[in-house]
Amino acid sequence: MAKKRLTVGWLYPDLMNIYGDRGNILTLLKRAEWRGYDARVLELGRGTVKGMAEVDVFFFGGGQDREQALVYEDLLEHKQAPLEKAVAAGAIVLAVCGGYQLLGHYYQTAEGERFPGIGMIDVKTEAGKKRFIGDVIVDSGIEGLEPQTLVGFENHSGRTFLGSAARPLGKVRMGSGNNGADGTEGCLQGGVLGTYLHGSLLPKNPQLADYLIRRALNRRGVSELSKLDDSAELAAHARILQRAQPRAQQS
Ligand code: GLN
Repeated sequence: MAKKRLTVGWLYPDLMNIYGDRGNILTLLKRAEWRGYDARVLELGRGTVKGMAEVDVFFFGGGQDREQALVYEDLLEHKQAPLEKAVAAGAIVLAVCGGYQLLGHYYQTAEGERFPGIGMIDVKTEAGKKRFIGDVIVDSGIEGLEPQTLVGFENHSGRTFLGSAARPLGKVRMGSGNNGADGTEGCLQGGVLGTYLHGSLLPKNPQLADYLIRRALNRRGVSELSKLDDSAELAAHARILQRAQPRAQQS
């Protein structure tokens, strides 16, 4: 019997990959391998690429304004159509910070330069002068996620505002999140999960990694994943919550 497979598609690994974002790729691959999957990564750099229809989980990492300027046209020209087709067929996208911003309607730099996004999620982002930097704790709105909290690190000038078609990934308990004003963090819309959480995100939030893998493999008849020993990952998660306690109470 052919080995079960999980394919992770990594958008612009050479340009959109900061603050440890690569750790998300490793986490997705390892958690699938530990369950007997043949897990592989498909690097999706600039230009025409093959194989996006086979991808189960797409990852789009963060990048400074300079890197976003280098990828946004390629995203519109070469990736938008196959990405939308793959998501319509059940693939899932995890997008962090700069990647999250470019899946929206646009990202506007603090200097006023606007990079059009692909409008896959109903969000818009405008950078401010002050950067939001630091640890973040989010009370997620994803049903059945255990733990319900998500922990990570943010470093962005963009302020993201959600339109009516997008719902927040959660509410910030500590940190700035989407815009430092409305208390929301990230977004969930269709098969896209966007967030400002770097760190990297998934190693300290294994429950979210499994949520993404399960959703992506749902179309292949997978509804449950075998349990893994996450004691080390959850200890790191709990440590962040504990460490942040005094500051969380102040903010
Ligand atoms: N350049 C974007 C901003 O400053 C995204 C930064 C990032 O990906 N960390 O908001």
